[in-house]
Amino acid sequence: MPIRTQRKNVYKIIKKVEARIFWCDTCNLPLLTRICGKCNKEGRLVKVTPPADARPALGKEYIHLRQLIEEEIGDKLPYPWRQVILFNKVPYPDCAEEVVIDGYVIGHKYFDLKLRTWRFKPLYVGVSELVKSKCGFYAITDLPRLSRNYEIHVDQLIDAKIPTDKKNRFIALATLSSFEGLGIYTDKKRIRVIKSWKAKNYAWNKVDPSWLDVVKANEARLELLEQEAIHFLKKTAEEAKLEPLVSFSGGKDSLVSYRLSEKAFGKVPIFFNNTGLELPETLDYVKHFAQTKGLELVVADAGGIFWESLEIMGPPARDYRWCCKVVKLIPTARVLKQRFEKGVLSIVGQRKMESAARALSPRVYRNKWIPNVVVAAPIHSWTALEVWLYIFKEKLPVNSLYFRGFDRLGCWLCPAIELGEAEAVKVQHPELWSKWEGFLEHFATKHNLGKEWVDFGLWRWILVPGDIKRLIAKDSIIKQRGVTVAVNQEGNYFVIKIKRYKREIDFERLIEALVTIGNVEVNGKLLTLNNQDVEMYADSDSLEIRVRQQLDPWKIAGTVVRALYCLRCGSCELWCPSGAVKVDSCGFHINSSRCNHCGTCGDVCPLSEYSLKIVRLKEAMDKI
Ligand SMILES: [Zn+2]
Repeated sequence: MPIRTQRKNVYKIIKKVEARIFWCDTCNLPLLTRICGKCNKEGRLVKVTPPADARPALGKEYIHLRQLIEEEIGDKLPYPWRQVILFNKVPYPDCAEEVVIDGYVIGHKYFDLKLRTWRFKPLYVGVSELVKSKCGFYAITDLPRLSRNYEIHVDQLIDAKIPTDKKNRFIALATLSSFEGLGIYTDKKRIRVIKSWKAKNYAWNKVDPSWLDVVKANEARLELLEQEAIHFLKKTAEEAKLEPLVSFSGGKDSLVSYRLSEKAFGKVPIFFNNTGLELPETLDYVKHFAQTKGLELVVADAGGIFWESLEIMGPPARDYRWCCKVVKLIPTARVLKQRFEKGVLSIVGQRKMESAARALSPRVYRNKWIPNVVVAAPIHSWTALEVWLYIFKEKLPVNSLYFRGFDRLGCWLCPAIELGEAEAVKVQHPELWSKWEGFLEHFATKHNLGKEWVDFGLWRWILVPGDIKRLIAKDSIIKQRGVTVAVNQEGNYFVIKIKRYKREIDFERLIEALVTIGNVEVNGKLLTLNNQDVEMYADSDSLEIRVRQQLDPWKIAGTVVRALYCLRCGSCELWCPSGAVKVDSCGFHINSSRCNHCGTCGDVCPLSEYSLKIVRLKEAMDKI
């Protein structure tokens, strides 16, 4: 599916789970439902971008926002400053959020990809206020309206304060006929209109409530949400007849899930997947949380496998997420299988609004990989604001990273990260980010990928999406990241070529691996798989395998790749139905008397899956 259609669908799905936020103009605070619990008055609907999964501005981000506005405007803050400010995500190639003060969107806080810095873009009420108070840069014109991309000459202005020194500065625009807009000063005494709209009515409030006031105004809704979630947990545990376990990531959603589980069942053990890519604050927080509450802490530790696998696999990408399997799925499955033989009810903090995939996922489901694990998501349809208000209401101890500029936690170098988010990692843990950047730079030089590949975070995709490509004016060329494989047809043969990479080719291991996909016979120098000849030729830099059309070249390629470059992740051992696979420090070993040639071990191998995925992506792109 082309990426553009994919994005459109994502938007459609996300739109379906859209929430509504109201604003009480008496108490000056956000409401989860229409009626204010403090004054009993009806709130006004806040016009924000769907899905309206707004969150409070906290800690560093709160302080940073004020600095950002003042820097951008080049003046002291022209807007009222409140304890309660909301951020609401909007679609953009990187981080971008609406800023809501007094129930009005005053602009966007966003990460400018070209300048690679955080900026504030005044919009709507934010623009009205600049024009009204003649603050920052503004321009009033007698044009009848403002059209996008029109260039207003300075002679067409009635009143203005225009930056002459710096390009790219935003200018608040207004006409005498109540149109407003945003412009940028170009070189030639002109302002280019980048956005325009009909001016909106607004009136700043005078009240400055605290977040605890917001909790009070929304108490009824929070209690309802809690009761429903507790009822859901009890019912699900009863039906599944399994003991509960809370999947605890150290994030806000799992914290609320824990609290609800505690209210439903009393003390519940928590499960933490240490991917080896967690920030130290999270590790300390999880440990401390379990200790102070006196809880059993079940840990699935991926150790250093990410870094060990990196040489072979290359950096992960959003469409090349080998890391997820290696650091999350496999260690988790291994530990849950061992520790909870009879199965377990895994309570997760998953929320529909987080992503399209999560919006489509049911509230209760069986884990695809471990059938006796039932997953339950008590806060499935909660919004981020509901989660935060519940945390404030219950006075729950939050991971300190939320006050240090982080909104999403998890692997700190996840390819799903936005460059704006990476800034927080750079500030909080420069040593970690420079280690990663060092690796990326080395990789980019070695593979001749260009400076942009690191600077614009292009490593995060194999197929770079259109909006990013347009922004940096570069076409994406798929480069092999992991083991280089090619599968071609030559007459009645398939020819598989695998580029050799450091390690020596051990033919005995190769033959041992081929047993997993069929009957292997060796007669002198002749090798057959299911009675079909398999010819192998190796030279100093590649291995070539020729097989008849009757055999599946992809299965063979995948098997050979994993025999040569096994990551020792243990996936094959975990899922082999006949217990024929063992993994040790050298790689995997097949007990041929137990193996029934089902090929499961190859199907679950992240190395062969992702090496071949790139080959197929390349093939698909070549056909376009
Ligand atoms: Zn009120």
